[in-house]
Amino acid sequence: MSQQEVERRLESGELESWPAEDLIKWGFEQFAPRLSLSASFGSPEGMVILDLMHRIAPGQARVFTIDTGRLPHETHGLMDRARERYGIEIELFMPGAERVESMVRRHGVNLFYESLENRQLCCGIRKVEPLKRALSELDAWLTGLRADQSARRAGVPAAEIDRVNGGLVKLNPLARWSREQVDGYVREHAVPVNALHARGYPSVGCAPCSRAVKPGDDERSGRWWWETDDARECGIHVGYERDGSGI
Ligand code: SF4
Repeated sequence: MSQQEVERRLESGELESWPAEDLIKWGFEQFAPRLSLSASFGSPEGMVILDLMHRIAPGQARVFTIDTGRLPHETHGLMDRARERYGIEIELFMPGAERVESMVRRHGVNLFYESLENRQLCCGIRKVEPLKRALSELDAWLTGLRADQSARRAGVPAAEIDRVNGGLVKLNPLARWSREQVDGYVREHAVPVNALHARGYPSVGCAPCSRAVKPGDDERSGRWWWETDDARECGIHVGYERDGSGI
């Protein structure tokens, strides 16, 4: 399929109603081996997609992750379990040491609690820059984004041209899944997940910026909990509000 045909399909919206398995299969057909899953190992959605990829194309799943240097050990534990279970190599991207050293010297190790500007600086250096490097090797990426994770993700499509990241294809196969569907898949297929979920963390990011939430709270309310809802994304996934601002 030509680049124009891929773009036409994405822009027509016809992929929006496809089941997750079909979208992942299509991704493999069109883009492998330059297709990779972005997995945080801090949410069950990425693990569900990894499990689906493994069933569809055993041994062919490519997975990358950003190790910010501030992840909880439960997240590293899940990486090890995933490597064993799926027989995969996890492509790990880390922030540049010089930039981290300079930031910490200037602003302190826990700068993110002091201001939104500092928090975005930290996410920019520890997450967004390594992500850009990871994406520069790809034609398409898969994410575990779901529309009902938070108000800021309400407009997540199943497939899109990622103009924020240079126009590669971004597939979000679980965009229309509910949390209950995700949990049901995890149970049915005994998918390994982050141990912190059982301790009240629906979404696990960096250790100092994640905490447990109360039952019924927004799934992402434990991330950067000291900030207002308007600010709470790290810069990796932006522009999904239903106000026409991003998609
Ligand atoms: S989540 Fe917190 S520690 Fe992690 S990169 Fe962002 S501000 Fe820094």
